[in-house]
Formats: sequence, structure tokens, C-alpha cells
Amino acid sequence: MHLARFPRARFAHLPTPLEPLPRLGAALGIDLWVKRDDCTGLAGGGNKTRKLEFLLGEALAQGADTLVTQGAVQSNHVRQTIAAGARFGLRTEVILEERTGSKASDYMGNGNVLLDKLLGAAIRYVPGGADMVAELEATADSVRQRGGKPYVIPGGGSNTVGALGYVDCARELVVQADGMDLKIDRLVTATGSAGTHAGLVAGFAALSVDIPILGFGVRAPKPKQEENVFNLALATAEKIGAAGRVNREMVVADCDYVGEGYGLVDQGVIDALALAARTEGLLFDPVYSGKALKGLIDQAAKGAFKNERVVFLHTGGAQGLFGYQSVLEPALR
Ligand SMILES: *Cc1c(COP(=O)(O)O)cnc(C)c1O
Repeated sequence: MHLARFPRARFAHLPTPLEPLPRLGAALGIDLWVKRDDCTGLAGGGNKTRKLEFLLGEALAQGADTLVTQGAVQSNHVRQTIAAGARFGLRTEVILEERTGSKASDYMGNGNVLLDKLLGAAIRYVPGGADMVAELEATADSVRQRGGKPYVIPGGGSNTVGALGYVDCARELVVQADGMDLKIDRLVTATGSAGTHAGLVAGFAALSVDIPILGFGVRAPKPKQEENVFNLALATAEKIGAAGRVNREMVVADCDYVGEGYGLVDQGVIDALALAARTEGLLFDPVYSGKALKGLIDQAAKGAFKNERVVFLHTGGAQGLFGYQSVLEPALR
């Protein structure tokens, strides 16, 4: 693999820190570290920034003048995409899906949505369950009709181009850990639209790094999530010249902690958010990283990581906390 073969716009703050979490680790009874991809630096940061370096690289190479993307109302991906567009003078048009069904004023107006408006995107809302691929195409068509040149980014930035960002993260993490003489036994991450998980799988496979990756799902059931990650990892491996290196056993998702559904917060998530905040001063998000942390806490209590050093990839999203004040605040009293 040779990532310099792919167009890339540089704006992420890299490498992100790799830090110990001694107090949270002690609470869980494991040797816990965190890879701080919440610190990628773009308008609050998060995992979408790494993907966007490659996506923007391609958009600029194609001469696009408008980014088009979609996400749930409190999408971190949408926030980071609009910010990336702003950095390069591109207009951004987004479609927000009312996926959780919440009409609460904080969910609809604060957190990421407020930042989307500040960053200056054209926003269109559609009801939950809408065909988001068709909606993306409709917006792209309207951009073309007025003479613009759209670059369509799928939800979460999860295609083979975006996944290159996490191929690079896999490389960065291994180089960093080797430089610290830090042996990693397992990498844990939230997994949603699959680009993060798939890029990591493809990156480790290409580098012949056999660190197992555990993805905690936030939406789809396990068979579907693993299939999505596997297919994207296969395609990404092929793109980087590592075809045949990824096999099905490398893809493991635990989707038992989704709870009531995508973007819906339960007491376990709130407990996880509070534990990280109160032991390490670390802010996780209610939709992704907090849900994954809920899973990590429960699995650690069941002895799943005995004698292991675990690195938790912090994918960001704390800006979304402000979209959940009405849910979180009563539970914190
Ligand atoms: C998008 C997102 C994820 C999931 O990453 P995918 O690449 O979509 O699987 C995890 N955490 C946060 C904070 C996110 O915004």
C-alpha cells in the first residue's frame, strides 16, 4: 500500500494522541488506552475528518464546487463535511434524516445542527426511513441543473475513498505504538456506516498486523453490520493493492448494545458517559462512542479482555451532547 497515490487534502491534526486511561481502566479492570480521534481538529474533530481528507482530495481533483452529503439530524459526519467544504471554498448541501423521530428542540436545533448552520450549509430535512441514496441523487441533480458541479459523499463518508483515512489511521497507530514499545492486544471502536472499521481492517491486513478489532454496533444487527464492514474492507484492500489479504474472520462486530435503536440513549449509555467524564475528564458522545463504551464496560465486567491491553478508538462526537440535554440532564441530577 502507498497512500500518496491517492489525492488528499491535508487539514487533520495528525497524528492524534495515544494516551493511557489509568482511572477508567482501573474502574473496568483492564489496561485501557485511548486513540484520540476526537482531536482531529476540524470544527470539533472526530473520525470523519480522516475520511474527508481523501474525499476532499478527490472532490478537488475533479473540480467539484459543491459537496453533497446526508446524515441523521445530529450527524457528526455532516458537521465535519460542511467544515471541510468551507476550508476549501466549496458550498455544501446536506439532507438530514429525522431518523430518531425526536422533535425535541435541543435535538432539532442544538449540538451538531447549530454548528451546521454556523458553518453555512444548505439544509434539507426528510422524514425517518427516507431513501437517502435517492435523496442524495436528487440534491446532486438540482446542483447540476443550476450549473454546479456536485461531489456526492455517502452517509458517514463510508466508501473506499473515505476508508483510506482509516487505512492511514491503522498505519499511524502501529507506528505510534511501536515507537512507545506498547504492545496492543485489541482495538475497540464504534461501528456505524462501516468506513472506520473497514479501513482499519484493510489497513491492518495490508500491513500484516494481527491486532484483533472489535466494533460495537450502533444501528444494524450483527450479521448486517459485519457484512457491510467486510464488503467495504474487501473493496478497500483491493484499492490499496492488498486484494486477498482481508478474510471474513477479521471482521467482528458486537451489536448487543444498540438498545432501543440508533441515536436513542439509555441509562447504560448515560452511565458510560458519566464514568468517562468523572474518571478521566473525557467526553464521549451519546450516539456512537458512548454506546461503544457501554459495550466495553459490560464486556470488561464479563471478563472479555482479561490480561489484555485494549486501545479504544475515540471517534469523537461530543458536540452531539448538546442535542441531548433534555435526555441527559434529568439523569445526571
Ligand atoms: C460516524 C461516527 C462513528 C461511526 O463511524 P463509521 O465510519 O460511520 O462506522 C463513530 N463515532 C462517531 C462519533 C461518529 O460520528
